[in-house]
Amino acid sequence: MPRRLRILFMAPEVEPFAKTGGLADVAGALPAALTGLGHDIRILMPKYRGVDARAGDMRVVVPRLTVRLGDHDVEGTLSEGRTATDVPVYFLGNDHYYGREHLYGTGDGDYWDNCERFIFFCRGGLEGLLHLRDGSGESWQPQVIHCNDWQTGLIPVYLRTLYRDDPNLGRLATLFTIHNLAYQGVFWHYDVQMTGLGWDLFTPAGIEFYGKLNFLKAGLVFSDLLTTVSRTYAREIRTAAFGNGLEGVLEERSQDLHGVVNGIDYDVWNPAKDAALRQPYSADDPTGKAACRAALREQLGLEAAPGPLVVMVTRLVEQKGLDLVLQALPGVLAEGCQFALLGAGDASLETAFEEAAREYPGRMAVRIAYDDELARRMYAGGDCLLMPSRYEPCGLTQLVALRYGAVPIVRRTGGLTDTVIEFDPARRTGTGFAFDAFAVDALLDAVRRATSAYRQPAVWKALVKNAMTQDFSWEASAREYVALYGKALKAKGSL
Ligand code: ADP
Repeated sequence: MPRRLRILFMAPEVEPFAKTGGLADVAGALPAALTGLGHDIRILMPKYRGVDARAGDMRVVVPRLTVRLGDHDVEGTLSEGRTATDVPVYFLGNDHYYGREHLYGTGDGDYWDNCERFIFFCRGGLEGLLHLRDGSGESWQPQVIHCNDWQTGLIPVYLRTLYRDDPNLGRLATLFTIHNLAYQGVFWHYDVQMTGLGWDLFTPAGIEFYGKLNFLKAGLVFSDLLTTVSRTYAREIRTAAFGNGLEGVLEERSQDLHGVVNGIDYDVWNPAKDAALRQPYSADDPTGKAACRAALREQLGLEAAPGPLVVMVTRLVEQKGLDLVLQALPGVLAEGCQFALLGAGDASLETAFEEAAREYPGRMAVRIAYDDELARRMYAGGDCLLMPSRYEPCGLTQLVALRYGAVPIVRRTGGLTDTVIEFDPARRTGTGFAFDAFAVDALLDAVRRATSAYRQPAVWKALVKNAMTQDFSWEASAREYVALYGKALKAKGSL
């Protein structure tokens, strides 16, 4: 394998420019880790409203890009900026599509033209590549395109069809990462004409899915290699219970499907250097965590109490098992825990949690917001992090919680299975508490194991130390990706 690979990382959201969930964290951190391993990796994302302010010196590299959508041309631009870690980022601009308040939709639902917005992203991104010049006027061409989630699903299809004979693009290998199989980008069949792809691809073996156009399926069928973000999720999504209708496609491609667990950026998430915290602390000297807990209680209006403070930081969506939390809440509080939630999302869940908080003043607090600073204070001030997900591709929240010494209480599914080890109080091994059944009893049983350990300070101290000394930094996973890029290039015959 060449020592220095050229990789284009295409993603619909990237920290610190735009974020709705874990994908943005991955897209911010993995390219930095790959750069650290000596590879030439660049990112391409949409130029949403407000990214200019976060991109430092941005310069336009392609002032006028023409992209064919159906029977008409749409114009865009390509600009270049850099991440804080100096990774080049290309921003595909079109204010009509991306100059909006949100990324994909409002609380009332998705933007009606998401299909068109992300056809433009896929095709426009490739058109942009054809025009790319780096600082010295040289053309820059990747060897591999790393695609992420449904918004990038048409890229592998375009490379195998419309751009097949292009001397550069035709040779590119593709690796497609599934961050969440439940979001597929499914649209009215008639939108196929806007893609510019032939109707011959609109079959069950191609981009068709029960009569509709499915972006994610397109990516799964046409990419050279597939990955998802944990080994357990890679197995689960080949079954009907987790496959969201795509289990057959994934089973067929099981030889090409790999699980690579996500990491987190240990510089971004570091309680020893986190400016949001009242007092820094570390695994070696965790004393500051008590001050962070007191500060969080103060900020949220919670009483001083002897029991553990259980926190959640989450999107408020069905996936995260919040209905189960609502049912289990009286039991959790009866165990002597306090409960604090920071989250935003479905209006009905927001209301339900706000109502519950009114019933337990001083013992339960809810903040409906997306708030990075408060999130950091929750991880630092929390004794436990609850994460009873229905399914969880990887989950980053529990990795951050481990790093901040908030012991995870998780449902044993997907990446939660792979990253949280059940604590054994006798041997003082393990990093958290896990339960299997999606049921109140199972959740409360895990909470009881946690409170019992919490009542023994020396035991709890050992558990927090175990949690804080886990290594979920990116380096090991970045090396796995490099090996897979090599494999994709070989499969393509481009190496
Ligand atoms: P998902 O991608 O399904 O939302 P992950 O656990 O993979 O879940 O990633 C969630 C990321 O988003 C974490 O970095 C978490 O801290 C952050 N996050 C989620 N909800 C909020 C919120 N309300 N405020 C601040 N950060 C949040």
